[in-house]
Amino acid sequence: MSKLNTCNAEALDTADELSSFRQQFLIPPKMDGDQIYFLGNSLGLQPRSLRQYIDTVLKQWEQYGVEGFFMGDSPWLSYHEKLIGTMSELVGAKPSEISIMNQLTVNLHLLMVSFYRPAGKKRKILCEQKAFPSDQYMLETHVKHLGLSPDDVIIEMAPRGDGMLFQTDDIIKAIEENADELALIFLGGVNYYTGQVLEMDRIAAVARKHNIRIGYDLAHAAGNIRLDLHKWDIDFAAWCTYKYLNAGPGGVGAVFIHERHHRNLELHRFAGWFGYDKETRFKMQKGFVPVLSAEGWQLSTPSIILYASLQASLDLFKEAGWGNLQHKQRKMQDLLWDLLQEILQIKPVFKILTPKDYRGAQLSLYFPENGRKIYDALIDKGIIVDWREPNVIRLAPVPLYNTFTEIRNFTQALNDLL
Ligand SMILES: *Cc1c(COP(=O)(O)O)cnc(C)c1O
Repeated sequence: MSKLNTCNAEALDTADELSSFRQQFLIPPKMDGDQIYFLGNSLGLQPRSLRQYIDTVLKQWEQYGVEGFFMGDSPWLSYHEKLIGTMSELVGAKPSEISIMNQLTVNLHLLMVSFYRPAGKKRKILCEQKAFPSDQYMLETHVKHLGLSPDDVIIEMAPRGDGMLFQTDDIIKAIEENADELALIFLGGVNYYTGQVLEMDRIAAVARKHNIRIGYDLAHAAGNIRLDLHKWDIDFAAWCTYKYLNAGPGGVGAVFIHERHHRNLELHRFAGWFGYDKETRFKMQKGFVPVLSAEGWQLSTPSIILYASLQASLDLFKEAGWGNLQHKQRKMQDLLWDLLQEILQIKPVFKILTPKDYRGAQLSLYFPENGRKIYDALIDKGIIVDWREPNVIRLAPVPLYNTFTEIRNFTQALNDLL
């Protein structure tokens, strides 16, 4: 079998100042070593410290019972404040614009209550075709709940031609053509299938110009790409924490709500006591008075165990430094891209769906033939990527725990299989 010649992977690992973070994670084993785990976009790996973070909560519960809300090293009542600093940095928000609560799809429904207010001619929602299924079901059922017909109000943008990628100009054109009727624009910031990163800033600017509310689903963006949510001036965003943010299966969700909405008491919302003004919350009075920040959208007592598991990971992001992680991610992507090009020059049997200039950690490889066989063979070798019907392999090396050598080994294995 031919050897790929871009082989400086070991040197890149040696020079990598973040290389020690790999040891902070539990890498799933295979027979003779570690898996090459490239599915941080689906379920991030477990921080080694996570048990200890959860154990601290359990000990506090053991020692103080309900007083754990007020006592101990991390009183549960203010645990939220420990999370929003790093989280806001990762998404380019102010801490007050972040609320960590519930889970992603639930949060999207709640945000729709506040930010989708169809009225008069402005009733339509612009979204992308083939959005992640949960987002489609959320829109469909939310619209029906308001007594509207999804076919009447949901406009699904198609990718250009028979491809799978969206052109920013097409999205802008769709916004401008429908501006008079649009009540909301709701898009996935990074497409889960193709890995395409939307030009969220440009799209948001057009939405703002036409005074149309805009929100993004950032499930595949948070902890992956650089975001600047406050500056982009979007209305809201929501994401999960179990993908790039490594908080564990079903980890607690997070939302961004721009600060210009925090004091608007006219906004509709579904409220609960954990969004109630903190000074007077325990007076238990009638009439909802919100916290004047994104926390005002909380409803329920948060799961402190889920908060702890998120904190274990956020602390690693903080220690590594978001800028450093971005830098390493770009280097990893360059290596992966170059090695795949090398394969493609001799064996053009697959295509990289993900656009070169609009990608984060994920690449989606399209195989017209034999994709499933190649996927099965990779899994057999302990190279963990995923398969999306009908013919796509997705993979996402991440800077916190993957290595340059793994990227080299994956491409070498792929080359051998082809
Ligand atoms: C992963 C993902 C979800 C999952 O939603 P949950 O409510 O966390 O199950 C939703 N939307 C998108 C775009 C996703 O990538």
